[in-house]
Amino acid sequence: VDVSFIPALRAIVGATHILEDADLRRAYETDWTRRYHGSTPFVVRPGNTDEVAAVVAACAGAGVSLVPQGGNTGLVGGGVPRAGEVVLSLTRLNTLSPVDAVGGEVTVGAGATLAQLQQHVRAAGWNFGVDLASRDSCTIGGMIATNAGGIRVIRYGAMRHQLVGIEAVLANGQVIRRLPGLRKDNTGYDLANLLAGSEGTLAVVTAARLRLIPQLPSRAVALLAVPHTAAALAVTASVRAGTTGLEAAELFFSEGVELVRRHAGLPAPPVGTSPAYLLLECAAPANAADELSSALSTIDLPTAFATEARQREGLWAYRERHTEAISAEGIPHKLDVALPLDRLAEFEGRVRQHLREAVPEARPILFGHVGDGNIHVNILGLDPDDDRATDAVLQLTAELGGSISAEHGIGVAKTRWLHLTRSPADIAAMAAIKSALDPRGILNPGVIFGMSALRE
Ligand SMILES: Cc1cc2nc3c(=O)[nH]c(=O)nc-3n(C[C@H](O)[C@H](O)[C@H](O)COP(=O)(O)OP(=O)(O)OC[C@H]3O[C@@H](n4cnc5c(N)ncnc54)[C@H](O)[C@@H]3O)c2cc1C
Repeated sequence: VDVSFIPALRAIVGATHILEDADLRRAYETDWTRRYHGSTPFVVRPGNTDEVAAVVAACAGAGVSLVPQGGNTGLVGGGVPRAGEVVLSLTRLNTLSPVDAVGGEVTVGAGATLAQLQQHVRAAGWNFGVDLASRDSCTIGGMIATNAGGIRVIRYGAMRHQLVGIEAVLANGQVIRRLPGLRKDNTGYDLANLLAGSEGTLAVVTAARLRLIPQLPSRAVALLAVPHTAAALAVTASVRAGTTGLEAAELFFSEGVELVRRHAGLPAPPVGTSPAYLLLECAAPANAADELSSALSTIDLPTAFATEARQREGLWAYRERHTEAISAEGIPHKLDVALPLDRLAEFEGRVRQHLREAVPEARPILFGHVGDGNIHVNILGLDPDDDRATDAVLQLTAELGGSISAEHGIGVAKTRWLHLTRSPADIAAMAAIKSALDPRGILNPGVIFGMSALRE
């Protein structure tokens, strides 16, 4: 990288917000899983949208590529500099506007964390529809860029469904601003939705207008010991049909619970040990526990209920602590796939069988958002470059009509397999959008399409 334009950047953001020191850069150069590394000549930390626009324009003028980064909790390597790009950290853009109580909306800076947003809107009597275990670090901009899903998609949809408007900086430094809070606005292409899931390849998100949901004070959680995935799906379907307030339906297995117990020091689940577990949460203005227990009244499986916050968190811990327990055990291959619901049980059985036979040293730990057909296949025991298990799992996903990425994105981790579940016409259309908005490949080169695709 030609660093002769650093003085220009210093003039834009101030010298203290250009991090050149190796110790200061380090946290920005490795991802959360420790699987993806790179190096950056410096990290630039603009403090507002005008500064972002000026930084992007200066980098574009110098032909220098940028990697936008929020909380660096992404799981597909898309937020770390892979080939000497400049890291554009958005964490200082963390303003939170007052909640619009008439519309149930709020305008948020891209660098605000999910936990900051939750605290802000809850204090005003509202809530936010997307929730993830990485809430203390992941940012709103990163969540939009990855179209994050999480544990409430079954009721409220993913990040794109919360977007009322967006503000973003294009690769040439121009700003697009759609923040007035218009619920209806059919004036051409929906740029906010185009950027949702674009993984930093089309624009830098600087702010968003988000829809809020009512704060539902009555909550109930049930943990069930289920014999297998098919039973979990059947119970979920029956609770879905019998309640109005189902907010989460999470599936996990004995191997994950053992790992979580070991790393988090938790006691055995109150429903005893079981091959699989289903966690359900209902939320309502009142009587969520009645709703959930009556929906489960005909189901004859060991079940633990919780209504108090502490007890609910106790049941959730078996599920929420999976990601950190897996990472504490080693560097996993993380395969976040989606299947049609009627193929999910078959997928789970066939993945395990295939790995046992073809890659016996692979140690699979599965869990997922079962109501969305989303399973996280985590594989321990393999070198980071050993793609045998990845290849097998993603091929099987494609064969069963699924998607190779349900909610984490393609990043750099899955570029080689994109063609499995997107057609040549799809990929050509996406590449045309990329080259129209970022013809010089300034923003996040290599992400989604791979480096070779860009060089062609
Ligand atoms: C414990 C744990 C649990 C998780 N659970 C879930 C889950 O349930 N569901 C789920 O979907 N994800 C989950 N994740 C993954 C991760 O938290 C999400 O992908 C999150 O949306 C990333 O946000 P971030 O701010 O950390 O983004 P980063 O990791 O910094 O970046 C992610 C991608 O977005 C781009 N980007 C970041 N900010 C911007 C911006 N302002 N403008 C443009 N591009 C940008 C980056 O270039 C990169 O490609 C989990 C991660 C962890 C560690």
